[in-house]
Amino acid sequence: MSDDCLFCKIIAGDIPSNKVYSDDEVYAFHDISPAAPVHILVIPKNHIPAVIEAGSQDEGLLGRLILRANEIAKQQGLADDGFRYVINSGNYGGQTVSHLHLHILGGRQMTWPPG
Ligand code: AMP
Ligand code: ZN
Repeated sequence: MSDDCLFCKIIAGDIPSNKVYSDDEVYAFHDISPAAPVHILVIPKNHIPAVIEAGSQDEGLLGRLILRANEIAKQQGLADDGFRYVINSGNYGGQTVSHLHLHILGGRQMTWPPG
């Protein structure tokens, strides 16, 4: 828990969110400003500021984060048509919230390369 972290406050329930999934180590909620018909953020409950700062102790957690995201993607009906996962890191990556998060984007055709 980081006192000045928006997503830690969401996990703690101090800031409301539209919850999709929660277990002892992962929380998922709808993005407040969706960039696609389905836009869900999947985050570890442990405060990791960015994916680049994950360490060997987070290896299992990161694997489970993606597997939980897969379950959510299936539940959201995204598996057949496909979808996109995004993890932004740092300034050039476009990261705006310093708590590791996996974006699930789906429900429309994605383009490449990203802007
Ligand atoms: P990033 O730019 O990768 O750091 O993604 C941060 C995401 O958090 C953006 O897509 C924002 O729309 C989203 N976001 C910011 N504040 C909230 C909030 N209070 N509830 C849900 N999503 C949020
Ligand atoms: Zn945090």
